[in-house]
Amino acid sequence: MRSDPAEYELVAPGNLEAVISLLAAQPGVWLPIAGGTDVMVQYAAGKLSARKLVSLWNLPELRRIEVSGHEVCIGAGCTYADLRRHEIVEREFPLLASAARWTGGIANQNRGTLGGNIVNASPAADSLPALLVYEAELILVSARGERRMKYLNFHTAYKQTLLAPDELIRAVYLPRRFTGYFSYSRKVGARNAQAISKVCIAALGRVALCVVDDVRIALGSVAPVPKRLLETERVVKGQAIDPALVLRARKTAMEEIRPIDDIRSTARYRAAVSGNLVAEFLIGLAASE
Ligand SMILES: Cc1cc2nc3c(=O)[nH]c(=O)nc-3n(C[C@H](O)[C@H](O)[C@H](O)COP(=O)(O)OP(=O)(O)OC[C@H]3O[C@@H](n4cnc5c(N)ncnc54)[C@H](O)[C@@H]3O)c2cc1C
Repeated sequence: MRSDPAEYELVAPGNLEAVISLLAAQPGVWLPIAGGTDVMVQYAAGKLSARKLVSLWNLPELRRIEVSGHEVCIGAGCTYADLRRHEIVEREFPLLASAARWTGGIANQNRGTLGGNIVNASPAADSLPALLVYEAELILVSARGERRMKYLNFHTAYKQTLLAPDELIRAVYLPRRFTGYFSYSRKVGARNAQAISKVCIAALGRVALCVVDDVRIALGSVAPVPKRLLETERVVKGQAIDPALVLRARKTAMEEIRPIDDIRSTARYRAAVSGNLVAEFLIGLAASE
């Protein structure tokens, strides 16, 4: 442990309103901590610059999943275990449920939250490609009120987000309109558990009368932010899936991403794997009608 606990202050007001008031009184001074699975890694490495922490852990306002006729509202404080155990999330949003199943290990899934994964803003985060393809929307809350925005716009550059210093993510909304879609997800890493992705993919599609009438593909770990492959989607949409289309989609996907070399992998490997995953998804989609 490279940090001295005596240099830090942690408060746990126990309700959302009190947390929001604290952030409003001193914006940027208090760092929210939810499950702590990212914050405590920084702390242990002596890299946590914030000295005042305010706990969001287990706030009832952030720890519920509400289902209405047309959408599901997931509190930002829901853990991966909460997501895995929820019947509607499992049935209607399998890409998010599978990301929850392969994030870290069991201990991590009992503490790590969806809101923490979004705000930590790692390009390799496992749940974020699923949020892209489901066209998730975020509710941000502060003493100034609430605003709703597309998750697609939230990450602006590497580790940069549109969250203001006095704001929290309160919830994530998912539209309930993907029943009947073919879902495909893969995490490519050094191991099946406790490994950060070299590449991860979440993809959804629907074929009608032999042509692709809807398709959504997103990848993690291939660009500064989780990336929706809009060009590749354009190539595929409205077409019949045959070997020539699979080849074109694979090539477009490889051109659309911006992978880098780092400690986990190389740009070349990531590009090749991304193309293969897109091809595998399309072959599965073709067989799904
Ligand atoms: C051993 C280990 C394995 C891991 N494996 C994976 C993996 O396989 N895949 C993966 O994607 N991640 C992995 N992680 C990273 C981490 O577990 C996730 O990113 C997790 O979702 C973070 O959630 P948290 O609640 O613990 O966040 P915290 O550490 O509490 O917070 C992270 C950041 O989010 C902010 N924050 C949290 N909640 C909110 C909110 N509601 N509003 C505003 N800001 C907020 C905090 O201020 C902080 O900046 C792993 C971490 C560890 C330690």
